[in-house]
Amino acid sequence: MHEMALCEGVLQALEEQAKILNFARVHAVWLAIGALASVEPEALRFNFDVVTQGTLAEGSRLEIVTVLAQAWCLPCGEKVSIRQYFDACPQCGSHPLQVIAGEELRIQQLEVE
Ligand SMILES: [Zn+2]
Repeated sequence: MHEMALCEGVLQALEEQAKILNFARVHAVWLAIGALASVEPEALRFNFDVVTQGTLAEGSRLEIVTVLAQAWCLPCGEKVSIRQYFDACPQCGSHPLQVIAGEELRIQQLEVE
């Protein structure tokens, strides 16, 4: 399960941050997720609740922030935003584009105590 593994990674990152920044409880987590990461938000929420049970993030709120993917268009010679793989360039309509970002998943913001 893709989402389960992601949540375990997030929890691990939270525990590391808690040691460094010295906080004991996490109230809310904002996750920035690339449009190409193929993450199902509902599955992510469900797994997050399961994985964080009995941890410093138990009962915390999960906010999912979708980040548009970036691709390089050769004819335009610039970076453009796309929503999915194989999207054409929104400016000139050419494809395929070279995807350069959009699969990331990172913690954008935390509300802690
Ligand atoms: Zn283009």
